[in-house]
Amino acid sequence: MTLSNFGPAVHEPSFQERLDRLRASYANHDDLVRELESFVRKAPDDQIVRINPIQYAANHGRDEAEVIDLFLHARKAGLLTMEWHYVCRGCGMIIESFHTLNAAGEHSFCKTCLVNRDADLSDFVEIGFTVSKAVRTSRFHDPERLSAKEVVIDYNTAASAMARDGTKARDFYWRHNVFVSYVEPGETGTFQVNLEPGFFALRYGPELIVDPSSDNRVERIDITHRDGRPAEKMQTVAPGSLTYTLTNASPDRIVASAISVTEAERAALSGTTPGFKLGDFLSGSRLLSMQTFLDLFPSETVMSAGGLAVKRVAVLFTDIKGSTALYDRIGDMKAFNLVRQHFGVLRDVIAANRGALVKTIGDAVMASFHDPLNAIGAALDMLAQIRRFNDSAGEELIMLKIGAHVGRCLAVTLNERLDYFGQTVNLAARVQGLAAENEIYLSDEMYCLPGAAVLLAAMQCDAQTVHVKGIEREIVVHALRARP
Ligand SMILES: [Zn+2]
Repeated sequence: MTLSNFGPAVHEPSFQERLDRLRASYANHDDLVRELESFVRKAPDDQIVRINPIQYAANHGRDEAEVIDLFLHARKAGLLTMEWHYVCRGCGMIIESFHTLNAAGEHSFCKTCLVNRDADLSDFVEIGFTVSKAVRTSRFHDPERLSAKEVVIDYNTAASAMARDGTKARDFYWRHNVFVSYVEPGETGTFQVNLEPGFFALRYGPELIVDPSSDNRVERIDITHRDGRPAEKMQTVAPGSLTYTLTNASPDRIVASAISVTEAERAALSGTTPGFKLGDFLSGSRLLSMQTFLDLFPSETVMSAGGLAVKRVAVLFTDIKGSTALYDRIGDMKAFNLVRQHFGVLRDVIAANRGALVKTIGDAVMASFHDPLNAIGAALDMLAQIRRFNDSAGEELIMLKIGAHVGRCLAVTLNERLDYFGQTVNLAARVQGLAAENEIYLSDEMYCLPGAAVLLAAMQCDAQTVHVKGIEREIVVHALRARP
């Protein structure tokens, strides 16, 4: 081990060994690897844990998808570890972290807000990367060694969480924190504060509305914590000094803290809509639509029995026109080879358009895209690439029928592979079923996306109102084909 009192503690032999592994698996990206190497060596201690890849890409002037690929390969090589962080929409804190989705549940309990939160892979599951301890150690690897304030504000608050007015959650807590301190088992913490007009919230204890017109003067609040944390009733009190004691009768270390905000700031945070949202971050649902992730970590998508909600994902299906006739005409062996080659072409197109191939079903392909515009781009590329494929074969061997739709899905794992279920998937398949050879059918939701018209400028588009099996209402679909 190479430990130095001057500068970061980098462990050279294992660092070099893992860098070699990364270079081998992520070849032809030497500049990205060199940049990551320099980052691991030089970044401040607090920056090498829970790294946000989107932020990293912005800081280094790199393409997001490239950096996510780099980080996934670096994780495979043992340079980085990766966590799924469930972030609470009420307080912006990381409620729970998982090293694999296998361990994740559908709900998590926020100990700050005292409510159950649904795991929402689109909006509130953030992927963070950490430099492996075997490569470089930092005190942030071990939150027990941090001060209570560092843990609560810098470590447990999601870096990308923002209040509704755009303030970063960490800045918000630094500004409004009154005190924060550990209370060890068996100990009592005593805190003197001055209650000022507005809203005052104790992590253990009641929430106070401090109102100058109130004659309810409260000078002392004594709380004993045993287990769990009962919700205390909100009280209206007069301004003035307050002595707060917290006795820890539980077997675990707890954090005593309070925040003080004005009434207007409180109104901005509470209510039915989330008080916090996540800014630029890598969401769980985006990761699940990345081919690199599915390729490198195929068994890592085993989830809770009920599946996890993905708010918005584009689902694209393809099928081959007249495949029975094709098998008949050129024979099973040749036809099968052809179909396999066509899978290869589609797979490359999907990956190039930042999607993931979810599965093949017979001669059909199902793919998912985090950004639905990429699904449109992929559909157009598929037609072009298959045309090229046919041209080089000298005959029109493969003719594709493509369809796509976007909406809510349930991400589940079946046969150890990620899959999507729900009405969005059903509708995408139905829309695809309407397409004839060399046609793309898009649902109205896809067709009306901002930016779609530009992508489709070269295509001839016809809108139709149709009934499809399993859907009660009539739906509008758009048939797209190359202009004659
Ligand atoms: Zn919360």
